[in-house]
Amino acid sequence: MTTKTAAVQSIPEGEHDLRGLWSEAVAQAPVGSEVRVAGWVHSRRDHGGVYFFDLRDRSGLVQVVARPEAAAAFAAAAKLGAEQPVSVIGTVAPRPPESVNPKLPTGKIEIHASVIEVLNECKTLPFGVDEHLSATEEVRLKYRFLDLRRPRMQKNLMLRHRAAVAARRYLDAQGFVEVETPILTKSTPEGARDFLVPSRLNPGTFYALPQSPQIFKQILMASGMERYFQFARAFRDEDLRADRQPEHTQIDMEMSFVRERDVHSLVEGLMKEVFRETLGLELETPFMSLDYEEAQTRYGSDKPDLRFGLEIADVSALFKASAFKVFSGAVAAGGVVRCLPADGPKALSRADIDKLTDLVKSLGAKGLAWMRWKGGTLESPMSKFLSAEEVESLKKRFPLGADGVLFFAAGPAPEAAKYLGALRKELIAKLELKPSKPWAFLWVKHFPLLEKDEETGRWTFTHNPFTAPLESEVHKLDSDPGNIRSHQYDLVLNGVELASGSIRNHRAEMQEKILGLMGYSKEEGRERFGLLLNALEYGAPPHGGIA
Ligand code: ASP
Repeated sequence: MTTKTAAVQSIPEGEHDLRGLWSEAVAQAPVGSEVRVAGWVHSRRDHGGVYFFDLRDRSGLVQVVARPEAAAAFAAAAKLGAEQPVSVIGTVAPRPPESVNPKLPTGKIEIHASVIEVLNECKTLPFGVDEHLSATEEVRLKYRFLDLRRPRMQKNLMLRHRAAVAARRYLDAQGFVEVETPILTKSTPEGARDFLVPSRLNPGTFYALPQSPQIFKQILMASGMERYFQFARAFRDEDLRADRQPEHTQIDMEMSFVRERDVHSLVEGLMKEVFRETLGLELETPFMSLDYEEAQTRYGSDKPDLRFGLEIADVSALFKASAFKVFSGAVAAGGVVRCLPADGPKALSRADIDKLTDLVKSLGAKGLAWMRWKGGTLESPMSKFLSAEEVESLKKRFPLGADGVLFFAAGPAPEAAKYLGALRKELIAKLELKPSKPWAFLWVKHFPLLEKDEETGRWTFTHNPFTAPLESEVHKLDSDPGNIRSHQYDLVLNGVELASGSIRNHRAEMQEKILGLMGYSKEEGRERFGLLLNALEYGAPPHGGIA
């Protein structure tokens, strides 16, 4: 706190030797005491012969007053510009009653300056360092140092820091050991592309930056570490989206001798601790949990936002023998008919419904079937194909308000889920639904082990290649590999995927078999994943983790 720079040393020591991070101390300093504070000139006002400015540092703001009686300070204050770093020596005085600011910790006092020393100059600013941001993202990034001076950005970094400290403390208390794993390494797939670094010593060969420390953390389990964690940098060469960046930090964990539930309770404890420490909130645990299949059926998503109801229903049985061939045909072909009843504070207009139709079409649907009872009469593009009984039965099953709409999707189950899932997300906003609670945590578990790679036609992993299949479904490895549920789980918060992990294959034989299904020959498997396979062969314990 009292790091001395040459500039500051030139000022005589004050009675209260305060420099940076002074907000709390200044707020408590007795009236009449002399203090020294350093920071940035936040804003300056000229009040007819008296200068006022707010001095800001990371800890807060304090009002400084320079009067003509203190000639040197007054002269310096006259020339101050925004964002100049300055050091001020002065006396703590009560603010006149009309300028007391109850929102500021230092709002009852001001500092009457006797010395103001300018510590550096500041060029004309490209944007104001305050909450009212006018600059474009490009300008903000060019002047990132200024952007990060803004209180909001400082708050974000502080929040992240506090969360990290809470997480570290919790994991330490739970017996976890923090280990750093290599960055220049072999490829560790997590479903993205690798960033490559050429090797100078072996021309023509490359290191891959880790997409995750997956292989290393599993090897640490074979090493008997039992509980490992790391604030791990992960590098994934993916197309950029708002929640995807080329590098990110993840709390990476692995544990030995555990089942799914053990990993989940550990993470629930971690979330509880982080929320308590950062937001002062008590989370309720255990979190809700859904099978992947059920999440898809009921919400059309593997990361549904459960702050909102809006649930999809299966109506296949009703339309099995319908004269509406789009529906009955879908059921006959082994598919489904599903319905999403949409009702909310805000009514949907015809234009809204058209936009929603465009949305599902953009995802590959041929159209969007819907119906509503506008002013008591049935309105629907498919009304003439439906029987009175079908309509009546829908009306009974889905009692809607006057503006409610039923949306339908028919076809193979995954497609129906995709279309209605996309609609559900859009409808939450369009209907202006109110969340039932502020935080909705959810475990989605038992993801499929394998899926078809559209490009190669081969089986590929859904998350990473190291996940174990459910024991009860191992027998399908040869007969029906596309239909195996795995020990893969995601932690979802308000519709956002927060974490992902699994129980791993701890036997080399099973791991090799699964690599085989993904098209790796035994030699290729050994070539790419030999480091891990070898470790699994020497008494690796059952293990699982998450990041
Ligand atoms: N490798 C992580 C895990 O399964 C997941 C991830 O990095 O996304 O634990």
